[in-house]
Amino acid sequence: MIEKTDVVIIGTGAAGLFCALHFPEEVNVVLVCKSKADESDSYLAQGGICMLQGEEDYDSYFEDTMRAGHYENNKDSVEVMIRSSREIIEELLEYGVDFDRDEKGLCVTREGGHSKPRILFHKDCSGKEITSTLLENAKKRKNISIIDHTMMLDIITDGEKCYGIVIKARSGEITLLKAKETVLACGGLGGLYEHTTNFRHITGDALAIAKKHGITLEHIDYIQIHPTTLYSKKTGRRFLISESVRGEGAILLNKEGKRFCDELQPRDVVTAAIKEQMKKDQMPYVWLSMEKIPTEEIRSHFPNILQQCLEEGYDPTKEYIPVVPAQHYFMGGIKVDLSSRTSMERLYAVGETSCNGVHGKNRLASNSLLESMVFAKRAAEAIRKEISEIEFREVSDLVDMDIYTDVSKLEKEYKEIVLEEIEKEKKRHE
Ligand SMILES: Cc1cc2nc3c(=O)[nH]c(=O)nc-3n(C[C@H](O)[C@H](O)[C@H](O)COP(=O)(O)OP(=O)(O)OC[C@H]3O[C@@H](n4cnc5c(N)ncnc54)[C@H](O)[C@@H]3O)c2cc1C
Repeated sequence: MIEKTDVVIIGTGAAGLFCALHFPEEVNVVLVCKSKADESDSYLAQGGICMLQGEEDYDSYFEDTMRAGHYENNKDSVEVMIRSSREIIEELLEYGVDFDRDEKGLCVTREGGHSKPRILFHKDCSGKEITSTLLENAKKRKNISIIDHTMMLDIITDGEKCYGIVIKARSGEITLLKAKETVLACGGLGGLYEHTTNFRHITGDALAIAKKHGITLEHIDYIQIHPTTLYSKKTGRRFLISESVRGEGAILLNKEGKRFCDELQPRDVVTAAIKEQMKKDQMPYVWLSMEKIPTEEIRSHFPNILQQCLEEGYDPTKEYIPVVPAQHYFMGGIKVDLSSRTSMERLYAVGETSCNGVHGKNRLASNSLLESMVFAKRAAEAIRKEISEIEFREVSDLVDMDIYTDVSKLEKEYKEIVLEEIEKEKKRHE
């Protein structure tokens, strides 16, 4: 059992892995994750990742991101994200990520809210391609250890600085993992919702822990509902029908088979239109027609979606499929600066757990993988500059192990803390 490390990163999604890969050999990094290392929402990403298409695209990409975010975005974060996009994609290519290509080079597609095609993709499983490549690279690094099925129960802190985490190991043992620096990369909070596209174990633990220790949160009620998930009577995670399906020509239809909205508006606008239509039609879903997309393209670009629809009993090459909105993404989170620093010293937050304001009130499609990696890299850069000055501290006086004996009760409490906070913020905004 590892008892101390230079850096502990909680989460093995795109954010956690990308951060880990940006430490040199002499910095020891431990990556901890609650489930299997490849069970993160980053794996589920279908549509792809945005890349600035040359200087002439800058204003339009910036405006699309701001418009989707209702102009509540932090402009500095948006600028950093867009300006860094090429270097991030170049790094991904070096790591071995295989984006789809045609005779002109890397293929680009379009999704809702984008005025131009600027999304790179790998069929309809871009997240799996990117995240599995990062994971393979991380496994090869001597300075990186990955500990799966291990849950962070708390951070170790004196109220001012963070000194590592309290964990429940795979064996069930509750133990301490001391670290000079701690990075929260715990993803969103979809697991708190009945209908979500997220993995069920992703329940916003880091938010509850942050709240408990007085670490600043921001926009905790900014939750994105994705307009199109495959309607199913089964319980469990909802299957996403990526926006790029609409980007390639799919349209939404009411129960009479009539179109009722502009499908390429930002997600919140399309979601509102669908919900209104479901009410009018008195139906638990609306239809999505892929008639305009050539069958060959459905097979080559969207094989995963096709397969999933067939398993549910619908053939999208021949018939409409039923779709319904579901919880999908979390724009709020632990408030961080442009280097992903939280309000507590030696504690960073990256990816969906964090909020640097880049998405404003509503995320533009395919900006989140990019944002996760841009700001995870910046966190690693900031940590590298300060870590040599930091010494390990004795921490036993900071932790009362008795409060972790009933983990199920603790998990329930954490869920309640987050849901309560969301409700409070919602009321404050009303
Ligand atoms: C179905 C779907 C499709 C998507 N499509 C796209 C897309 O096309 N383009 C795009 O840009 N974005 C997309 N997204 C969003 C994107 O995938 C995520 O926002 C992003 O990858 C978040 O990455 P992350 O590393 O922050 O978190 P995640 O990838 O969710 O990883 C979270 C990690 O934290 C760990 N963890 C959580 N709590 C604890 C704890 N208490 N202790 C230990 N470990 C913990 C988990 O085990 C996991 O390893 C999609 C999301 C979904 C769900």
